[in-house]
Amino acid sequence: MKHLTKSPEETQKLAEEFARNLKGGEIILLNGDLGAGKTCFVQGLASALDIPPTVYVRSPTFALINEYLGGRLSLYHFDFYRLGDPSELDSLGIEEYLFSDGVTAIEWADKFPDELPENAISINFRVIDENSREINFL
Ligand code: ADP
Ligand code: MG
Repeated sequence: MKHLTKSPEETQKLAEEFARNLKGGEIILLNGDLGAGKTCFVQGLASALDIPPTVYVRSPTFALINEYLGGRLSLYHFDFYRLGDPSELDSLGIEEYLFSDGVTAIEWADKFPDELPENAISINFRVIDENSREINFL
């Protein structure tokens, strides 16, 4: 299902609506170019899961994973952008996140598709113009 958002706030609102159906254990794959709105979407997820607003949500560029605790469900945020080799995922202990009770969101997931379960939810982001993004739930 395709959506067009016309501001970062609309993208977060879309994420909030989507998050209402999350029960824990979901794996969400976020794909699309830099600046397409993947992190913005994760911010909406965090807010909908009642992660405290004092918890700062941004791409885990150096740590590779950020954990946002204290909400209705825990949210685990990966970004594969700077990941050079899929073997690093094992040392991160990715399996523990993928099979946890929390929600796992992975930016640039399609860099290493073989590392991820097939039952994951894929969402693709596309820049349309400065303030518009196409967000496609596959
Ligand atoms: P990504 O994680 O995909 O690299 P970010 O979410 O970090 O992208 O950044 C998206 C950028 O695009 C932000 O600077 C945001 O303000 C801007 N933006 C403009 N319009 C939108 C929109 N409709 N949805 C999401 N972000 C938007
Ligand atoms: Mg990002």
